[in-house]
Amino acid sequence: MALVSVLLPYAFDAAFTYEAREAPPPGAVVTVPLGRRIVHGVVWDDAPEPGIAPARLKTLHAVIATPALPGPLRRFIDWVAQYTMAPRGEVLALALKTGLLDPPAPRAGWAAGAAPSGRITATRQRVLDALATLDRPTTAELAAAAGTGAAVVRGLADAGLLRPAVRDPSVPLPDPDHAPPALSAAQEEAATALRASVAARRFEVTLLEGVTGAGKTEVFCEAIAACLREGRQALVLVPEIALSAQFAARFAARFGAAPALWHSGLTPATRRANYHAVASGAARLVLGARSALFLPFADPGLIVVDEEHEAAYKQEDGVTYHARDMAVVRGRISGCAVILASATPSLESAVNAEAGRYRHITLAARHGGARLPAIEAIDLRAAPPARGRFLSPVLAGALETTLEGGGQAMLFLNRRGYAPLTLCRGCGHRLTCPNCTAWLVEHRRPGHLLCHHCGHAAQAPAKCPDCAAEQSFVPIGPGVERIAEEVAELFPAARTILMASDAITTAEQAEAALRAIVAHEIDLVIGTQMIAKGWHFPDLVLVGVVDADLGLGGGDLRAGERSAQLLHQVAGRAGRGRLPGRVLLQTYAPEHPVMRALIGNDLAGFRRAEADLRAPGHWPPFGRLAALIVSADEAATADAAAAALARTQPRDGVQVLGPAPAPFAMLRGRHRRRLLLRAPRGIAVQPVLRAWLDRARAEGLPRAARIDIDIDPISFL
Ligand SMILES: [Zn+2]
Ligand SMILES: [Zn+2]
Repeated sequence: MALVSVLLPYAFDAAFTYEAREAPPPGAVVTVPLGRRIVHGVVWDDAPEPGIAPARLKTLHAVIATPALPGPLRRFIDWVAQYTMAPRGEVLALALKTGLLDPPAPRAGWAAGAAPSGRITATRQRVLDALATLDRPTTAELAAAAGTGAAVVRGLADAGLLRPAVRDPSVPLPDPDHAPPALSAAQEEAATALRASVAARRFEVTLLEGVTGAGKTEVFCEAIAACLREGRQALVLVPEIALSAQFAARFAARFGAAPALWHSGLTPATRRANYHAVASGAARLVLGARSALFLPFADPGLIVVDEEHEAAYKQEDGVTYHARDMAVVRGRISGCAVILASATPSLESAVNAEAGRYRHITLAARHGGARLPAIEAIDLRAAPPARGRFLSPVLAGALETTLEGGGQAMLFLNRRGYAPLTLCRGCGHRLTCPNCTAWLVEHRRPGHLLCHHCGHAAQAPAKCPDCAAEQSFVPIGPGVERIAEEVAELFPAARTILMASDAITTAEQAEAALRAIVAHEIDLVIGTQMIAKGWHFPDLVLVGVVDADLGLGGGDLRAGERSAQLLHQVAGRAGRGRLPGRVLLQTYAPEHPVMRALIGNDLAGFRRAEADLRAPGHWPPFGRLAALIVSADEAATADAAAAALARTQPRDGVQVLGPAPAPFAMLRGRHRRRLLLRAPRGIAVQPVLRAWLDRARAEGLPRAARIDIDIDPISFL
């Protein structure tokens, strides 16, 4: 009998030792007994534990006929666990999903049936048009592509215009030479460098920086083409699923075949098919969310992280990893090229580029001759909105001129709902969430007050609980719904649309809205950060930012940086077509460095100023941060745990900030305290944290308190 180490996808850091007649190779997926259950696990590279008493040694149950986890993926899992201080089993759980292990079955799809006789409805025609671009799609896929429901597809089948066609689970092969674009000289130069990086078949990181509209996607598509020519696999990460449909369409046009998708919105059958195609190497181009880093790629040759500065790359629940940073690690372990693309690179990546750790390629001009928009501030101190309004006369006037001239405009406010605060006119009582330290946000649709942190919903009380005044609650400040209301009063004839995650909830709705905006069936778009990124609206000439100061508060380390990135992205929506764009920022602080950087289009200068602020105090990226979040059901328990951590805090060369109540001292009903460890770049924080927790446990850290560790925290809530 042989001994085998098996890592289980649960909160264990150690692999367990089992005995087997014959040891399966590392990476093999197996089933083993755990207590009274039989569970899945993966044979790991650790040496088996010797000397376990035969009576306690359990026998490996079975080897599963499914692709093994390749060595680079196993080393990546070990690395992520070590870095994030999560148990290795929890990281393995990101890669090993038991529902994906069985090989995919052929699926029932549709092909063209009889030719239509006579006229058919526009919706039916859309379905047939969509069918022509897809390979034997399922009912759901076809309906989604045509922006309609399953009933229309079934109706076409009943009429004989569609016929059933079984689809085997293979994925179409993208062709690097299908439709190469005409590149500008600057794009060609960048593409040449990236092609060489991929062809070198070794680890190298390139920061691809280009102003919005510079054609970064076309450039990194050339790197993908080079990867496909090498016969290897390319992975493109996007920060949000909402962006994947648009990207998939662009890739399909460029390479003649849709990419294999990987995100939580896929059907189980598609996930399973794509998982196996990635493992076999058949899926050459994969487009996915951050979890795609944990797929068992057979031969990865390139990883692209688009919009690398996006905070959405940070996984905030469970294993708290930053997908941009882990993509670089994955590339290093797999020995492949990595491209980080952004119009507004993070300070982290910019500093790495400056230090020579990353190569830096810049695309300075917009593609196709489009000019960058002119950005101006509206000083709200000089031109305030009328009472009860939120658009200053200057912005309202610009909107009027644009709409009268037949132009398209957009108003941006990164706040969902109608009003962020509801208070009593009589006594100033504020309506807050019972579970969180947060105000309740009024939503007129569907008509309630909502906590944006825990989802608690309530109606405004008829009587003030403090002063008993009746019907005394008034909304304070604007959300996008309130701006839409003001716009409807100002421009009753304008065709408007509200783009926010609670107004547009499905990918189909987003697609339909997008089509309407691009077709200029909409005059004025009002939206949250949902409209900031990626979208290309050729007729959009005016962008108004309702509250440019909104992101600057809160004392967050990256508030200024993030605000500059977001507003730059929003501004970049304007003037991407033939017409020049104009951007108006409503602000009470036009002299703020963020506003000055935006107006002067000098984000590089802003980054330098940020770097000068952060470097002396060893703030990231010039030092390391780790957050300890203490939480407990009782405030006293949280305080006792925070005190134990404070008493035992490390002192050698590092600094501990706190404990302090977390900005949301109560979240989802739990009391929270925060400590922040700050260390110079040369110090690894993980061993310091481990020793600290050991000391705190020895000094009576209450067991009822939970300690979450967040390495490189992005959110300071
Ligand atoms: Zn009151
Ligand atoms: Zn809440």
